Amino acid sequence: MAWTSVQLTTVVTLRSVSVRTGVSDEVDMSVDRVLAIAVILSAALSGAGVGPMPGDGREPRAAGAERPAAGQAATSGPRQSEGIFDLMSSGDLEKTRALLVQDPRVVTATDAAGRTPLFAAVAARGAGGVPAAIGEGKSPLTLTYVANMGVLLASGDTKVLIDALFDKPNPAYRAPAPDVLEAMTRGTAPFDGVDLAMVTHNHPDHFDAGVAVRFLENRRSATLVAPSDAVAEMRKAATDWARIEPRVISLDVAVGASAARRVGSVAFTALRTLHSGNNESPMNLMYLLEFTGWRLFHDGDSPGNVDDFKHFGLAGSPVDLAVVHYWWPLEPNAARFLQEDFKPTHLALTHLPIRLESDAPGKIDQVRRYYQDIFLLLPGMPPRTFPVRGGTR
Ligand SMILES: [Zn+2]
Repeated sequence: MAWTSVQLTTVVTLRSVSVRTGVSDEVDMSVDRVLAIAVILSAALSGAGVGPMPGDGREPRAAGAERPAAGQAATSGPRQSEGIFDLMSSGDLEKTRALLVQDPRVVTATDAAGRTPLFAAVAARGAGGVPAAIGEGKSPLTLTYVANMGVLLASGDTKVLIDALFDKPNPAYRAPAPDVLEAMTRGTAPFDGVDLAMVTHNHPDHFDAGVAVRFLENRRSATLVAPSDAVAEMRKAATDWARIEPRVISLDVAVGASAARRVGSVAFTALRTLHSGNNESPMNLMYLLEFTGWRLFHDGDSPGNVDDFKHFGLAGSPVDLAVVHYWWPLEPNAARFLQEDFKPTHLALTHLPIRLESDAPGKIDQVRRYYQDIFLLLPGMPPRTFPVRGGTR
């Protein structure tokens, strides 16, 4: 069967199945399904195959740790998840199609590493780049630093803001400059056309409910994803919650579990950890995200626990750019993980208290030789662009 006819048949069948079973996800999945299926099928057709996933066969850290919390968008049960991942490795197109038709939710299934079939298909292509369906024409990536752990990441037509919507941090940390705050909420360059704002957790040096509400009120095409405790604050802060709620993705994820979603061209997985200091509250989400072929990571305020990272399969999950706490390369366990397991191509160090801003560059210079590219995010730095590297990482 020709590729296009497979694709069209699948699209039509899935739409009708979706209606009949009343599958309802938090995000509009129809486009996602089509894209994900295209990726999975193209991987199968090209015979790329999918090797063992990092995390496969791994014992869950705690009972139920691999299962999303109740109330999340549907992920399929273990039987179906295993089915889709097994079929991807076998490359059996007909069976893959049959499984997708039988249960479209397998597209949002996650493996032990918390990856959807789309993520796994991408990872399977490894050093060769990513499948044509989402990775072709990889554009340069530009990082614009906002403040504390706040960054704007832009590539092609896609812009993602992470931990940038705040104005009243603990005074040890910097807030976005007033003109930057204004530009973000009004949507003037470089913050025009932001597709997705991501919030790692409800702390004032990462997030402010009022600023987030103002952002969504002004930026009508933007979606925001945040942990449910942060969303609860936004609901209180909003004068007209019903108007912005459809563009808010609220995630309620158990510690050690993950949730995968897609917003437009951005596919992401939220990985729930304790908050720095090993606190249950607020809910901290690390994000692994992917768009225009770039794989990116932001750790929010995770405790920096290497066991957590390995549990989530990050050791076998190469990223182009990781945005992490400044002390990781200076702490032996985290440093070893970065150098031997995680190996991000570009490592951006952040959450620097104001008092360490002058001291930190010298410290990082001492470990620079152990990394491909390591740099501090410092106030006033110009945007940094990462060029496309001939399709290989
Ligand atoms: Zn925090």
